[in-house]
Amino acid sequence: MQRWSETFIPTLKESPAEAEIPSHRLLLRAGLVRKSGAGIYAFLPLGLRALRKIEALCREELNRHGAMEVLLPAVHPVELWKRGPRWEAAREVMYRVDSAASDPATLPADPEYVLGPTHEEIITALAAAEIASYRDLPKNFYQIQTKFRNEIRPRFGLMRAREFIMKDGYSFDVSDEAAVETYERMRQAYEGFFTRCGLEFSMVEADTGVMGGSHSHEFMVPAAVGDDDVLYCRESGYASNRERARSGLVPENLRIPEPEGAVEEFPTPGVTTIADLSAEPYRVPADRQYKTLVYIGDGRPFLVVLRGCDDLEEAKLGTLGFQQVRPARADETSELLGAEPGSLGAVRGRMPGRERLAGIYADEAIRLVGNGTTGANRDGFHVRNIHVERDLDIDRFGDFRRVQPGEPCPQCGKPLELARAIEVGHIFKLGTKYSEAFEAFYTDTERKRHPMVMGCYGIGISRTLQAVIEQRHDEKGIIWPWNVAPFQVVITLLDPGDANAVEVAERLGGAAEEGGADVLLDDRDARPGVKFNDADLIGFPVRVVIGRRGLAGGVVELHTRHDGACEQVALEEAPDRLREIASGLQRAR
Ligand code: ATP
Ligand code: MG
Repeated sequence: MQRWSETFIPTLKESPAEAEIPSHRLLLRAGLVRKSGAGIYAFLPLGLRALRKIEALCREELNRHGAMEVLLPAVHPVELWKRGPRWEAAREVMYRVDSAASDPATLPADPEYVLGPTHEEIITALAAAEIASYRDLPKNFYQIQTKFRNEIRPRFGLMRAREFIMKDGYSFDVSDEAAVETYERMRQAYEGFFTRCGLEFSMVEADTGVMGGSHSHEFMVPAAVGDDDVLYCRESGYASNRERARSGLVPENLRIPEPEGAVEEFPTPGVTTIADLSAEPYRVPADRQYKTLVYIGDGRPFLVVLRGCDDLEEAKLGTLGFQQVRPARADETSELLGAEPGSLGAVRGRMPGRERLAGIYADEAIRLVGNGTTGANRDGFHVRNIHVERDLDIDRFGDFRRVQPGEPCPQCGKPLELARAIEVGHIFKLGTKYSEAFEAFYTDTERKRHPMVMGCYGIGISRTLQAVIEQRHDEKGIIWPWNVAPFQVVITLLDPGDANAVEVAERLGGAAEEGGADVLLDDRDARPGVKFNDADLIGFPVRVVIGRRGLAGGVVELHTRHDGACEQVALEEAPDRLREIASGLQRAR
């Protein structure tokens, strides 16, 4: 039993100005963490206890689903990253480490080391060196470790930090089918883990980047403060991160209308937006316009064509296979196509820089336009009667638009709904991208060599801690689920100087500990109001109040935080009742 007077729980009455969302305020107010710098936090004893419990649940679920724990280095030799497939894309997010011997005046452009934002490069190099035969497979490694990412905008405390704790796992299998089985086991482990954390969550389809395929899912905790948008359907159960959401907007058997007439250029002085062209005097509705965007992929320009009323979902450009993608600047655009961004079009024969383009990619939904209007690649002019097949110079159709709520579910046609969520975990079938780069090959029974098929699996451990608080709190404070509460029971001594009360507290505390609870004894010399408020703020699931007056009447008080219930219990019945409440709360997670 831990004594309050011997620990360090600096609770705060006021909300610190730096905290914008409830869970961040409560992390600080309940004395769980303190900020050391932007996106950099220290865990204090209570915060660390909750964190360790989350880690323990995570280990239990992963171990029981066939994964094994390792601990990889946090400092990574940069050569490993350079051998891997994403050095250019990832270098910005990494903190560089130069050895003390480096002369600051001659610091190399590339660092000697980087701090690990994630560990595919390290583990794949290890697997390449250590695993040779199909007999050594499958292997599924994980670790729980501090990660470093130079987030541009760290915010909301542990939610988006620059230094944070992640569980990351990496699996190696002999085949695609075997990798899918491992993926499935990890999905089960994740469901078990988040359930045991007391979270309400859902698993949604997630972006797969260049890999494509359907084996990428995120675990999402619904919350207004989340950074992610989820589109879902109550009817079919379809749920997807908006970054890759599909919809049934374009019917599979769509009949594209015939061309309506000859291509015709017309003056549109001052028109530079979709809205301008839909207004007087032109009155071309946004869904009858083609919108043309210029992007740069690994240094080469390409075009994306959408309906005028649609927005690009930038993440979907990941399917095009570029490592790095950015919007072109206005000067690059006019140099390429001869017009400002407001007057562009992808009309065949009207693009001066056509041969320099890496490609022209069109969203499927422009087929709905059929005949439309677009920029003439000449400032102040547009062209109409542009038929989607006859006139647009499209290399490839795909899904690039951002799906809007209300659009038909791709599975059942009912309207999709939109919700905000926090991404707490991600599972991803990687394929052989890393194993090929690092020559992580195995030999089969006929001594033929194959790349190992990999999966990777992440859980934001520290983000999960905060997500629990975001989901489980009220105006008084945190309401910890049993499994992750730093202490499950607090014993509030109203008269800490009273030897009899202390003796009763120790007896009851012992009984609670036998029932599986961690017990904190509030033996501080403080007013009852202060102790009660702190107990509510920190959110221990059970509070036992022991006072001289109650004891004289032979009773103690038992409170439960989640429902505010309070009962007076005879002293001799208190241990049993306490155990009963504890096991009830344990069952309810
Ligand atoms: P996000 O989209 O939120 O930036 P991510 O997709 O880049 O996250 P992953 O690389 O998939 O993150 O990392 C695995 C998990 O680590 C995420 O699901 C998330 O829970 C957690 N995580 C990622 N970045 C941070 C961060 N800056 N602070 C705290 N947790 C993070
Ligand atoms: Mg992710």
